[in-house]
Amino acid sequence: LRPPHEMSAHPDAGLSARWRQEIPALHHDERPDAPRAWVYLDSAATTLTPQPVIDALAEFYATETGSAGRGGHQRARRSTERFESARATAATFLGAADPAEIVFTRGATHGLNLVAGGIKSALKPGDTIVISAMEHHANLLPWRALAEATGAPLNILPLNERGELDREAAAPLLAGARVVALTQVSNVLGTVNPVAELVAMARQGGALTVVDGSQSVAHRAVDVQALGCDFFVCSGHKMYGPTGVGLLYGRRAALEALEPVELGGGMMTSVTETDVVFAEIPHRFEAGTPPVAQAVGLAAAIAWMQAAGMEALQRHEQALTAYALNELSTVKGLELVGTPRERSAVISFGLQGLDAYALGDHLDRRGIALRVGSHCAHPLVRRLGLRATARASFGAYTDRHDIDRLVEALHQAAERSR
Ligand code: PLP
Repeated sequence: LRPPHEMSAHPDAGLSARWRQEIPALHHDERPDAPRAWVYLDSAATTLTPQPVIDALAEFYATETGSAGRGGHQRARRSTERFESARATAATFLGAADPAEIVFTRGATHGLNLVAGGIKSALKPGDTIVISAMEHHANLLPWRALAEATGAPLNILPLNERGELDREAAAPLLAGARVVALTQVSNVLGTVNPVAELVAMARQGGALTVVDGSQSVAHRAVDVQALGCDFFVCSGHKMYGPTGVGLLYGRRAALEALEPVELGGGMMTSVTETDVVFAEIPHRFEAGTPPVAQAVGLAAAIAWMQAAGMEALQRHEQALTAYALNELSTVKGLELVGTPRERSAVISFGLQGLDAYALGDHLDRRGIALRVGSHCAHPLVRRLGLRATARASFGAYTDRHDIDRLVEALHQAAERSR
């Protein structure tokens, strides 16, 4: 175990130092001889796990053994209670009107597939589906498959040269759409989309609206009712929670109209030789044994973020992002990929004359973990004329030392590639 990061005079050091102390993975290094602690700049891929979340998982496995929603014995009942209590925590966190509007999924990808699959039979000839040019494959491929299966055209909202949605071009496409599915924050460009405004435009034309909150929910306060969307998805492992769990919010009427595409135990109230009666929402979308431990862990992650305060987290990351952009501008040959006016804690870039993967290796050898690739958004990266980008992304525990180490390593790389 390494000692916690050295304190510094940076103004954000107090907050991030406190949050850092609760992340054991930051202080664990499998490189015993490494001269310097490692730097984690890949929170958009997955966030590191706070100790209270690990404790909640361990406590659950150590003390609870019943399967939620099944059986009448005490332990099963307790598991059910804890699962439902986690649902209530998630509902409050997202601003849902009722815990019944929260479905536990395996992650954002699963949630998007449940929605795309579940509205298939409701689509009629002439209906159109709209997504944007900055979508992750998880919010592209299910809609493309739906479009192919139903004959509905799939329209793609274009981006401007900054990597923002082009609102003027979006307006007519949104107004005529039957389904609109947009990310709140781009995992490649860092762009924060004005989703409340876009959702309102889409709803005027009667569209069903889906928001991918994978990259927003751990970085700013989200209120699904204020966004006005019908569906909202996110992943536990990108919000300080466990892997294998996520949330699908569905406004009651929208969720009730959605067809369950996964069938099995727990999602029905009765089955005869020929017939099945589905359970009420949300259970009809939770076929199979639910991820109870993961849901309990996710509730602990939500409590951790709430204790930190969503506004404090956002302020911390905004200050860090501004600092990083400023420092990165001193690196010769560094090119930002995307310059949105409203940006979350994600910065993609390249270095002139150096392949992105070679840059990733250079940083990895120095203990700096960031993502290099096309970030599960091949069409976007290809449209930008690139093969890959390097992407630095931040979380509660990121501090200015992390940025300084990155920038120092980038200066070295820039020097060598000249
Ligand atoms: N949407 C966005 C914007 C993402 O960044 C990601 C993951 O990187 C996903 C969806 C998919 O999340 P998951 O793989 O946890 O299902």
